Amino acid sequence: MPPEFLRMIVVHELAHLKESEHNKAFYQLCLHMEPDYHQLEFDLRAYLCYLDVDGVPLWSAAMPSDESL
Ligand SMILES: [Zn+2]
Repeated sequence: MPPEFLRMIVVHELAHLKESEHNKAFYQLCLHMEPDYHQLEFDLRAYLCYLDVDGVPLWSAAMPSDESL
């Protein structure tokens, strides 16, 4: 998984420490920590959709135990 995705996930979780909802304040926190947050979230969603359709991870270290699905 690209480090950008991991950073986006960490930023998302950190923002949840302050805001439990996905509200405006939550996204402002995300953008404060990661100015490209919206782009990264879009890219991650696109990648997850790709996984749903094709089921083949683009990166070998993507998700553990995907082969059993
Ligand atoms: Zn969340």
